[in-house]
Amino acid sequence: MKFGKLIVLTGPSGVGKGTLVRSLLNRHRELHLSVSVTTREPREGEVEGKHYYFVSRSGFEQMVEAGELAEWAEFAGNFYGTPYFALKQGIGEGKWVILEIELEGARQIRDKFPKALRLFILPPSWEELERRLRGRGQDSESAIARRLLRAQEEIEAAGEFDFQVVNDDLEVALKKLESILNLVEVSGN
Ligand code: 5GP
Repeated sequence: MKFGKLIVLTGPSGVGKGTLVRSLLNRHRELHLSVSVTTREPREGEVEGKHYYFVSRSGFEQMVEAGELAEWAEFAGNFYGTPYFALKQGIGEGKWVILEIELEGARQIRDKFPKALRLFILPPSWEELERRLRGRGQDSESAIARRLLRAQEEIEAAGEFDFQVVNDDLEVALKKLESILNLVEVSGN
């Protein structure tokens, strides 16, 4: 098998990763989302254990020290990490586990799990990314500025990933992701 059971999905904040992942999960029962821990404050509508496990900074540090995180990174002033238990749960059920994470974490996963399939989601243009980030109305102006700065670095690293998918039209992007996943499954077994 060319790829293992891990799928890493990375792309700049605002590119629509969350929507893509939710649609994929709705359509494919064989996929499982790894729920991360974060020190970020919950946004309106976010549910503990579904979108994230929300923890304090000291709680996060304890998890790092105890070696409970497969990867972690600081992003726009907050910490985010993938707990091993989130990976084990999906893998134990024989599913493909999706990690929706930023670049630094994706690099750590590449080093630890070289067989992980790594996908990068690109915006159709820089202007559109900025428009989407502001349009969500979820972040302060300074948080948006930090996210845009990081977006630039992340887009420059898109070539490190196995596949790049442009999220212009949601349905088209979904079809591309599905064809990549099918292709991997068919050719990998
Ligand atoms: P947000 O605050 O918008 O939910 O997430 C900010 C960024 O952190 C996004 O790029 C998201 O993919 C990333 N992220 C979410 N969970 C994790 C994680 O467990 N590890 C890492 N490295 N990044 C994560």
